[in-house]
Amino acid sequence: MDAPVLYIVVPCFNEEEALPITADRLRALTDDMVEKGLISPESRIALVDDGSRDNTWKVICTLNGFDKRFEGVKLAHNAGHMNALWAGMATVCEKCDALVTIDADLQDDVNAIYGFLEKFKEGCDVVYGVRKSRETDSTFKRSSAQGFYKVMKKLGVELVYNAADYRLLSRRAVEALMQFGEVNMFLRGMVPLLGFRTAEVYYERGERVAGESKYPFKKMVAFAVEGITSFSNRPIRFVTLLGVVCALLGVAMAVYVVASLIGGQSAAGWPSLMMSIWLLGGMQLIALGLIGEYIGKIYMETKRRPKFILEEYRR
Ligand code: UDP
Ligand code: MG
Repeated sequence: MDAPVLYIVVPCFNEEEALPITADRLRALTDDMVEKGLISPESRIALVDDGSRDNTWKVICTLNGFDKRFEGVKLAHNAGHMNALWAGMATVCEKCDALVTIDADLQDDVNAIYGFLEKFKEGCDVVYGVRKSRETDSTFKRSSAQGFYKVMKKLGVELVYNAADYRLLSRRAVEALMQFGEVNMFLRGMVPLLGFRTAEVYYERGERVAGESKYPFKKMVAFAVEGITSFSNRPIRFVTLLGVVCALLGVAMAVYVVASLIGGQSAAGWPSLMMSIWLLGGMQLIALGLIGEYIGKIYMETKRRPKFILEEYRR
């Protein structure tokens, strides 16, 4: 096999401080890989400007002007990390044999890409970069992230633990991913749905090279909610369960009420009131859960996800 054409896709939102450093490192990396014959000289670095409000696009244009290795993709408005990644992948997918997505702040060790390529050459279509530890993240970020992975697992969503959006995808894996029709995108959950041969490469996560995190608390919460509601109907089931529990309590209450009536120690109006509160409340919750179950089905249908992903077709 000829050296593969590798595209490195970098989403950038207000990254004017980090970009020059990042670009230098990625240039050095690709130079080295081309020299070693690991990738084709046609390989490129695609910088996606996610509607930045600072000089990010100017920086990208300058880079592109000096060195054809840098390509620029500009989004008209801030579409968010996931959409920026998607836009980058969709734009370059036809021109590459494989692509790597990496954040612009280089918190992820670029040298792991050597490992990615090795696995790709062994025939893997999806290679996850997995963090060995999270020492450089704040305690809050670390524990909230870990809690998130646990909740997702309980909700039955298949995720690769501690793997973020640093990964290699072969061209056919990207093409398969592009068949997903959903607008609410949670890439970390979607990539494992692809199937194909996968591998993991471990690396140490570092500090941001420059600038500040573009994920404030608000975006983190939105991201977590997105992840859960895009993949799981279980919160709806929980409502149904709650309803069943309430209804059962209602029955128990009925028994208790009858017993106190016979015992002659109940106030007027109290028995019927207590029973209706629990029974009705329970039944309402069950009904809500039931309706939710159908809405959940409709929701999943509207995603128009592919029913299968073709791995090979020999004729
Ligand atoms: N990013 C983006 N659009 C956004 C927010 C972030 O493209 O609306 C990019 C950002 O430029 C960076 C990556 O997503 O390349 C991850 O962001 P960041 O490093 O700030 O997140 P953190 O590492 O703090 O979770
Ligand atoms: Mg970061």
